[in-house]
Amino acid sequence: MDGGKYEEDLGIDRQLDRQSTDKQMLFAKHQDQRRSLPIYCYREGLLEAIKEHQILVVVGETGSGKTTQLPQYLHEAGYTEHGKKIACTQPRRVAAMSVAARVSKEMGVKLGHEVGYSIRFEDCTSKKTVIEYMTDGMLLREFLVDPQLSSYSVVMVDEAHERTISTDILFGLLKDLSRSRSDLKLLISSATLDAEKFSDYFDRAPIYKIPGRPFPIDILNTKAPEPDYLDAAVSTVLQIHVTQQQGDVLVFLPGQEEIESAEEILKYRIRGLGSKIAELIICPVYGNLPTDLQVKIFEPTPEGARKVVLATNIAETSLTIDGIKYVVDPGFCKLKSYNPRTGMDSLLVHPISKASAMQRAGRSGRTGPGKCYRLYTSHNYKDDMEENTVPEIQRTNLASVILTLKNLGIHDVVHFDYMDPPPVEALVQALELLTVLGALDIKGELTLIGRRMAEFPLDPMLSKMIVASEKYRCSEEIITIAAMLDVGNSIFYRPKNKQVLADNAKMNFFTENCGDHIALLKVYNSWKEAAFSTQWCFENFIQVRSMKRARDIRDQLVGLLERVGIEVTSSADELDAVKKAIISGFFPRSAKLDKFGLYQTFKNRQTVHIHPSSGLAQSLPRCIIYHELVLTTKEYMRQVIEVNPKWLAEIAPHYYSQKDIEALKLKKMPRGEGRATQG
Ligand code: ADP
Ligand code: MG
Repeated sequence: MDGGKYEEDLGIDRQLDRQSTDKQMLFAKHQDQRRSLPIYCYREGLLEAIKEHQILVVVGETGSGKTTQLPQYLHEAGYTEHGKKIACTQPRRVAAMSVAARVSKEMGVKLGHEVGYSIRFEDCTSKKTVIEYMTDGMLLREFLVDPQLSSYSVVMVDEAHERTISTDILFGLLKDLSRSRSDLKLLISSATLDAEKFSDYFDRAPIYKIPGRPFPIDILNTKAPEPDYLDAAVSTVLQIHVTQQQGDVLVFLPGQEEIESAEEILKYRIRGLGSKIAELIICPVYGNLPTDLQVKIFEPTPEGARKVVLATNIAETSLTIDGIKYVVDPGFCKLKSYNPRTGMDSLLVHPISKASAMQRAGRSGRTGPGKCYRLYTSHNYKDDMEENTVPEIQRTNLASVILTLKNLGIHDVVHFDYMDPPPVEALVQALELLTVLGALDIKGELTLIGRRMAEFPLDPMLSKMIVASEKYRCSEEIITIAAMLDVGNSIFYRPKNKQVLADNAKMNFFTENCGDHIALLKVYNSWKEAAFSTQWCFENFIQVRSMKRARDIRDQLVGLLERVGIEVTSSADELDAVKKAIISGFFPRSAKLDKFGLYQTFKNRQTVHIHPSSGLAQSLPRCIIYHELVLTTKEYMRQVIEVNPKWLAEIAPHYYSQKDIEALKLKKMPRGEGRATQG
């Protein structure tokens, strides 16, 4: 039964009556809040402009109400009649979820009904949904299902200034679509004033500016560069807490790891200050933040306490947290970069751009005068920082996006209408990779394998591994491994005070040097045998949240297997089959041990190292396949598995010549070889 039914019974049941009054009061409160947002004064003007123009660029300060209000205005103005929906894209999944939750509250409806969200591997929408928040990647996938986007009347590409690769590709596709679908409205919304570029790209679409009501912000720079930004950030927070008047603090940190360290140091140092100082509530915010903790960020700070939000770039423009008066900006963020020559992706801590620094400072002056503590000098700002961040498309691996474009029938990927074109080298590399994986033929056309691969919202190598599991009759095991790999490096739990216990527990899954992929498979299967028990996770130092996510992803993968017509079959304990399927997808990522005991990648002869967290870090097998290469302090291979070199030539003869394999000196069989072949 839906809520509407109960409301008819109001007069009969007093209990429901009271609940309903509460609901109405909450609704009224939300309506008041909505009317107090800067965008509210421009509601009619905006709707008028949207009516008149097919494409409109909307620019407004973060927090002015673009993301939460515009879709509602459009809904109220009738754009969702005749069964049409409004799509609003977000670069980040947490933003899509959190904004959808907020808007469903404002509209007084259940999340997933009229207002929903869809992110990769999670669809929280229904037949009723009229406002759909989604990641930009999901809208890109929607093009595969329905190239006309016929169920949508409006598409709002939000946070356009973030210039993620999916957003950039959407620009090209939507611009093209707008020519054939004159009834489709397109909104490009951005937080920065760099809107001319969007307007130019969309055939000089008009720009609608929503004036902000910013308060003055006091920007304080350090006099000398800080040698340890994490320590400096924590000290600054404490200094604010002890000396400054009420108001919450927002600290920008590069990633989850740094946030967790900062939280730990902060808690430790607070304890040292004794009980006289006011309560400090610490709220971490990052991309993978579990849903239950997301809610905490927006809870109002109790009287007398202070909230400190430790956030990644997500709080720069995607999420607005009310009550922030102080911003601490160490001046760094994590940026992906890609080296087409080595094919290596790296995620490195990088200085931010001037545009980012301004956005960050701006977060402090939304509801009153603010202060921004920059942990870098004004010279650093003036002389060392770039004006803008380089768009992702120019610094990332393009294989996945090219596969999507090819699947959409866009053959000439070089002359696609990019707002900023990717480097030719990176394009060529992506085409080459897709060709050796068998997704493209020599003419660059999508093959049957490629078409099947494109069904999976995963990196093409992972997709290929899954498609190949059909041949080796081990799809059951392979989708488990794919799901576990997709969850990332958060399966094993290693608390600081129980590291030895945690490491011992972990080694139980690495019997017989089985390699990281197989260990992940064992973890999942053991959890399944334990009836997916939380207790089992605690006992084995496994993060239950990550496991649940892996299970969800795996369930989705089962559905996708069905869609491409691959049976779910198990190789039972035949691990060679599993390894062969892995090689089918990851053969370009191989490395061999040289005579100095160092690893070299097979093709580029680049020196690389097994990551210390790998179960094979001590055993040093001769020939391995790795899942990813990450550059931190060294070039590390993460998630590695030992393989028989003969298999490389057998599975990828177009990539490995017999000579390559012979160069491994097969006659010298170091220990480990037997295990690799027998599994
Ligand atoms: P913009 O997209 O222009 O940056 P938003 O529409 O995201 O602005 O936010 C408008 C206002 O809505 C914010 O200032 C904040 O007060 C409120 N808001 C947004 N999301 C939430 C949330 N999850 N919880 C509580 N308030 C929120
Ligand atoms: Mg927004």
